[in-house]
Amino acid sequence: MAEHLAFNYMLKSILIQDDRKEPVGRGFKSLWAHSTMKSKMQKSDTEWKTCLSPEEYRILREKGTETPFTGKYYKNKKKGMYICAGCGAELFPSDTKYESGTGWPSFWKPAKKENVETKPDNSLFMQRTEVLCKKCGGHLGHVFDDGPEPTGKRFCINSASLNFKEKKSK
Ligand code: FE
Repeated sequence: MAEHLAFNYMLKSILIQDDRKEPVGRGFKSLWAHSTMKSKMQKSDTEWKTCLSPEEYRILREKGTETPFTGKYYKNKKKGMYICAGCGAELFPSDTKYESGTGWPSFWKPAKKENVETKPDNSLFMQRTEVLCKKCGGHLGHVFDDGPEPTGKRFCINSASLNFKEKKSK
């Protein structure tokens, strides 16, 4: 019953919008835009499965962890930008990458503070801080307080959560 009322309300608000001389369908569009603004990028599991590899899906969408010393970027020393494998957001510039010895790509600072999100993660009997892509909500890895100066942070990130845009020097 509650859903029925909510649906009626939604329909009404669309019709009211369309009454304001907006082209038909615009109401739906603005409603959609509003909902994505609130929760950023929304894709169904099926959609994610079609655009990610099984390993990327397992890590980004199911909060998995890749086996250390196996990822494609832990040894990468090229100059450029690490972007989200899920949505392409710029996450970590190569000049904040360092050799942590953990077998995962490690960075001391994100490209932009607003591009990443952190959340407490108390799974596996540990107290850790999860790092996520703010735009698509993809799981990237964890952040620890044993990194190098100037931040003292170690962003321990799965290669599978990343793609790399190499900066070609001219
Ligand atoms: Fe993303």
